[in-house]
Amino acid sequence: MTELHFDNRFVRELPGDPESGPRRREVRDALWSAVEPTPVTAPTLLAHSPEVAALLGLDAATVASEGFARVFGGNALYPGMQPWAANYGGHQFGNWAGQLGDGRAISLGELLAPDGRRWELQLKGAGPTPYSRGADGRAVLRSSIREFLCSEAMHHLGVPTTRALSLVGTGEAVVRDMFYDGHPRPEPGAVVCRVAPSFIRFGSFELPASRGELDLLRQLADFCIRRDFPELAGQGEALYADWFAEVCERTAVMVAHWMRVGFVHGVMNTDNMSILGLTIDYGPYGWIDDYDPDWTPNTTDAQGRRYRFGTQPQVAYWNLVRLAQALSTLFADVAPLQAGLERFQDTYARQERGHAAAKLGLSHCDDAGMAHFRRLQQLMHRGEMDMTLTFRGLMDLNPLQPSLACVEAAFYTPARRNAVEQDLLQWLGEHARLLQAEPLPAAGRRERMRLANPRFVLRNWLAQEAIDRAEQGDTGGIDELLEVMRRPYDEQPGRGHFAGRRPDWARDRAGCSMLSCSS
Ligand code: AMP
Ligand code: MG
Repeated sequence: MTELHFDNRFVRELPGDPESGPRRREVRDALWSAVEPTPVTAPTLLAHSPEVAALLGLDAATVASEGFARVFGGNALYPGMQPWAANYGGHQFGNWAGQLGDGRAISLGELLAPDGRRWELQLKGAGPTPYSRGADGRAVLRSSIREFLCSEAMHHLGVPTTRALSLVGTGEAVVRDMFYDGHPRPEPGAVVCRVAPSFIRFGSFELPASRGELDLLRQLADFCIRRDFPELAGQGEALYADWFAEVCERTAVMVAHWMRVGFVHGVMNTDNMSILGLTIDYGPYGWIDDYDPDWTPNTTDAQGRRYRFGTQPQVAYWNLVRLAQALSTLFADVAPLQAGLERFQDTYARQERGHAAAKLGLSHCDDAGMAHFRRLQQLMHRGEMDMTLTFRGLMDLNPLQPSLACVEAAFYTPARRNAVEQDLLQWLGEHARLLQAEPLPAAGRRERMRLANPRFVLRNWLAQEAIDRAEQGDTGGIDELLEVMRRPYDEQPGRGHFAGRRPDWARDRAGCSMLSCSS
């Protein structure tokens, strides 16, 4: 057994709730409550990420031990662990929701890895906490598989994200009404161990600000800067300003990557926004198949479509404005907050240009280049073209002889293909001219495009295939997907199944095109 070193600064340095245990309550003047995971009947390790285990310094024997499944299923603690649930609020679907907190997440401790990095280990689905608000604190296997796989897939795609160490089956059933339509059913339960340097959210600051707990707000800001942004120097208001600007910048970088790879978060409430600019809280997320900026996988959001693919940058900005408001008492003047918000806009615009250029195989994108990029997006939309396959296909465009051949595989229907054929041909011709004017040699261009355009993303139906198998007791599909998603930009011959268009069966199937917050 590896020796593990915990250094639980969050609970050591910040005020906690005087009451411990899971009794549901309003918690004031405190940022966390001590609460233990509720043990489960039969903790069984279903999958783990070898890369994350290595990051944490956990050797293979430790991961394989019975004790590992017990700890990461919530039945035991390693020495030095000190479990807590965090207190935070949030704006949900545009409205202030008051106290939310970790209703089914329990942090076990802050592990100091052998390389000196700090990693908070957090179980999701480990039982009730003071913040469970009448719910059970549990998670079903399907949503746990989705969180486990997507965390790792996003990491390998180069998107800032929380990581996942383990997926443990509980041996217990969890009752869920998947579409809130009066058909609850028992489903297998599971616990995921998520890993990140910090799980502090925008909502962590909003809650004390909303209650006028201004000392607490300042303590949290100071702590967060000290622990999570040690590279920031300076002090006083200037330090707060640099910090807020950095949060804005990281958020812009994260969302620009989402747009690059076709990821739709689905529930961008401010309690689901990480202060580190990491993708966090994988729920009813989805991946764009046929390009549609209005698409959201989240049926709970089907009416307003607030969190649809195309508006994610604007929503991130809106969320940063909420954070700015929460932090405003730290500043004498709004100017530094305004400057931070501008940093978001500038960074996002720059990132978007950079990604567009790389995706198209151009050395840079000026305004005309961006207009050219937008025309392709419109064609993909009108032609119902698969986003991932279109961009990957463009790698094979011959600038001397432009034709539709390289993107034929991206079409879902012949009717839509024929509808855009002429316009697309014209676009490809323009693109060929731009490529010919490029200083980049062909091989360099292909490589640049390859690294911006994944061949493999965690398509909704792929995750569902793994879930269907796992619910029958076969976890092989999880391991296969984890393996494929480790190298999303590589060709990986023989694995075409994982790179294909969405099959017809998945078009309107629950879990593939429709997901809810019930998880
Ligand atoms: P989400 O939008 O999924 O991040 O969840 C919003 C809030 O609901 C958070 O405070 C969660 O902790 C809480 N929550 C979601 N599902 C459960 C559950 N099964 N039990 C307790 N709390 C939950
Ligand atoms: Mg959440």
